[in-house]
Amino acid sequence: MIWQHDDIVPQIVSKSSAVKAREKVKDFYLAIIEKLTQGVDKKNVMKEIIAEKTFGSLKMKSRVNTSETQSKTFSRETKAAAFIRDALPKVQRCKICSGYLHSNSISIDHKTRKEDGGLGNLDNAQLTHPYCNSTIKN
Ligand SMILES: [Zn+2]
Repeated sequence: MIWQHDDIVPQIVSKSSAVKAREKVKDFYLAIIEKLTQGVDKKNVMKEIIAEKTFGSLKMKSRVNTSETQSKTFSRETKAAAFIRDALPKVQRCKICSGYLHSNSISIDHKTRKEDGGLGNLDNAQLTHPYCNSTIKN
């Protein structure tokens, strides 16, 4: 969705200072997540956000349909969509919070805590976020 509407963010941040722009982009992404969580259909999320005018008046470019293109070359959107489709399911998830892990930021956690007798063997190791690993488990 973010790739399909990559023209929206520049509209939101135009005329904003860098600090303000960052807040606005964050609010925009949160608004998208909020709509999706409420069960709004993917096709209508952006329409609703634009209609609410929270981010000023925005214009949506004509939709790029990635599956019904007549062109023989891949568009930037299609390339991005292909990458996300193929790469995302293979991304490791944190075993504590189930969120996606970034390869630069992985912690190896003891499944059974050391305090509870957990050993440093492979069976007792799991990939987690450093943050999730550092917080106290129940
Ligand atoms: Zn986590």
